[in-house]
Amino acid sequence: MFSDRIDHATCGILTLDIQGHILKTNQTFTQFIAYTKQQIEGEHIEMLLNNANRFFFHSFIYPKLRTEGTIYEAHMTLTKRDGKEIDIMFNARLFDTDDGQFIDCVILPMEIRIQHEHELRLVNQKLQDTLEEKTELHNALEKKQQELVELNEQLKILASYDPLTNLYNRRVFVDHLSQAIDDFHDNKKTFSLCIIDIDFFKQVNDHYGHGYGDEVLKSLALTMRNFFGDNAIVARFGGEEFVVLIPDTDEDEALAITANLRETIRHETWNEINLTISIGIATMTKDDIADTLMSRADFSLYESKRNGRNRETANVKPDLT
Ligand code: GH3
Ligand code: MG
Ligand code: MG
Repeated sequence: MFSDRIDHATCGILTLDIQGHILKTNQTFTQFIAYTKQQIEGEHIEMLLNNANRFFFHSFIYPKLRTEGTIYEAHMTLTKRDGKEIDIMFNARLFDTDDGQFIDCVILPMEIRIQHEHELRLVNQKLQDTLEEKTELHNALEKKQQELVELNEQLKILASYDPLTNLYNRRVFVDHLSQAIDDFHDNKKTFSLCIIDIDFFKQVNDHYGHGYGDEVLKSLALTMRNFFGDNAIVARFGGEEFVVLIPDTDEDEALAITANLRETIRHETWNEINLTISIGIATMTKDDIADTLMSRADFSLYESKRNGRNRETANVKPDLT
């Protein structure tokens, strides 16, 4: 029978009078709240509501029903007979009949839905945690990358500079030299290559110790850097030998510039030492490669030494006989 089936419908059904008294319920509803029909029919709906829900009922449900006649998907809790709360969702409609006004309500428990919501919240929380973890990992990775970039910079410096004098090392100088040679062939931009060797430096070490010798090398490097500024590439070629690449400089200009440097160094105070340098110069010609330039500068240096040191010599060709 239809009324039997209504009694056992999958939702709770109840009818209230306009004051809120429970007039009729189906069995499903009474099962939700663990009362019998006899126990609740005739009672006020408030017997199933805690204080918060009573307030909700009076301030929202009743006024809305009176003005609009229907309520859809309202959420609240009912208090079961054992005092436990049950979450429900309900629809309600106000009917005006010849016998007066009635409110029919359809009630669905929300345990499964709440369970799902709870699971969803857990999954969301997990997602959030994973996202935060990922962000942290990403930040850590970025930090490591930054460290790597800085380390690379340091490595570049280590690979490019002589640690004692902070001048360019031989490798960097050779790169600059080969660029200058290319530039000469492409744009006819001449340059001079100078090898500078300290005179009798062994004696400095012998008299004052190797540590002091190191300090002299550092000071000399600084003097040369200050002397040339940005106008030349100055490098430590090894030991107490330095190389300088002076752009846009022919033989005469190179001789004049290095004579000036030599005098600057000679007049500087090196404790009681008279520090002088000898210089060999090679000026780029169209037939030169790096090796021929280097050996011409080297032979010129040898000539400076042979002729008594503390001097500069340019473009002495290697004696190949
Ligand atoms: P010359 O006028 O013929 O160049 O005489 P020299 O004594 O300068 O030449 P030599 O080649 O006989 O000696 C170079 C010395 O430079 C030998 C070595 O002890 C010293 N020397 C090379 N590298 C360094 C260094 O890094 N620190 C110090 N303190 N001395 C160095
Ligand atoms: Mg030497
Ligand atoms: Mg020397």
